[in-house]
Amino acid sequence: MTKSGHKRLAFYQLLAGEEWPAELREEFGRHFSRFGVPSFAVDSEADQRFRASVERRRIPALRDTILACTGEHVYEHPFHYLSVRSDRSYDKGDFLDLSAACPGDSRVRCRIGARQTGKLVMDAGKSKDLDLIEESSSPRPKVFIVSRRLRDSLRQADFRGFRLVPTLRRGATYSDQQRELSYVDDRLVEEAPFFQLLVTARAPGAPWVGEVVRTFYQCSRCGTLNGAFFESGPRFKPEDLDQDADIQTLSRYRTSNQGQVEIMGEVVVISARFLRFLKDNKVRGLARYSSDPPAKHGIVDLLD
Ligand SMILES: [Zn+2]
Repeated sequence: MTKSGHKRLAFYQLLAGEEWPAELREEFGRHFSRFGVPSFAVDSEADQRFRASVERRRIPALRDTILACTGEHVYEHPFHYLSVRSDRSYDKGDFLDLSAACPGDSRVRCRIGARQTGKLVMDAGKSKDLDLIEESSSPRPKVFIVSRRLRDSLRQADFRGFRLVPTLRRGATYSDQQRELSYVDDRLVEEAPFFQLLVTARAPGAPWVGEVVRTFYQCSRCGTLNGAFFESGPRFKPEDLDQDADIQTLSRYRTSNQGQVEIMGEVVVISARFLRFLKDNKVRGLARYSSDPPAKHGIVDLLD
């Protein structure tokens, strides 16, 4: 990246689960992250030397780049990946309807097509003292939970792409109607220990990831990929995203060798304005985007 202050890192991932050769680890030691992913300032002398070594030794590795800006420069990028801490996994009720979901095969229960129809049942004593958390049992649809404090400040702002739904209290009695996701009344709002931030905006397009290089698991029924190496991280065209949404989800990528592919989880993208709001409000629960390579913020990469 040439613009000053906008740092870009090059990083390398091994395609087979092997180790990097000891000589490389020794020579480039300080460039290796905790779990052994080497990264460099893009096209720096060290990056070029490392790249040449990988090619010379014919090591099966992928090189990709990632934006790694800090400070105010972060907000100059219009979109960001949302990464938040996970809630401890405990039973939050039958909030998903799996009747139309893909049953998967003998290896994985796929759940593509699961729909949320019920409210979450929360136990305030079991959930962490955070403002924004992700329910770990549901990678898709992604389920975010917000504190009453954050819900109150969100109501003062005018963000687009979600609605706030009260959660139910464990142990309290509710009618079937009150348990329905779409039904809200005053008592529910008053008593809710937490609120669900329900993302309603969907990205209209699918970002480009180049070639599907290696697949770890693909549902034999519906073709959904669960874990794969792509030639590059997602690169977006403006029309791939809803430009007016402050939060939106996507689960499709465009590839060069398999057309459009569906991925098992959901990627959540937020606007710079929303990220700034979360930071300025000192929202507890935001997580570091990546440790390998080290990147505090998940900046959405746009195609030039
Ligand atoms: Zn499936």
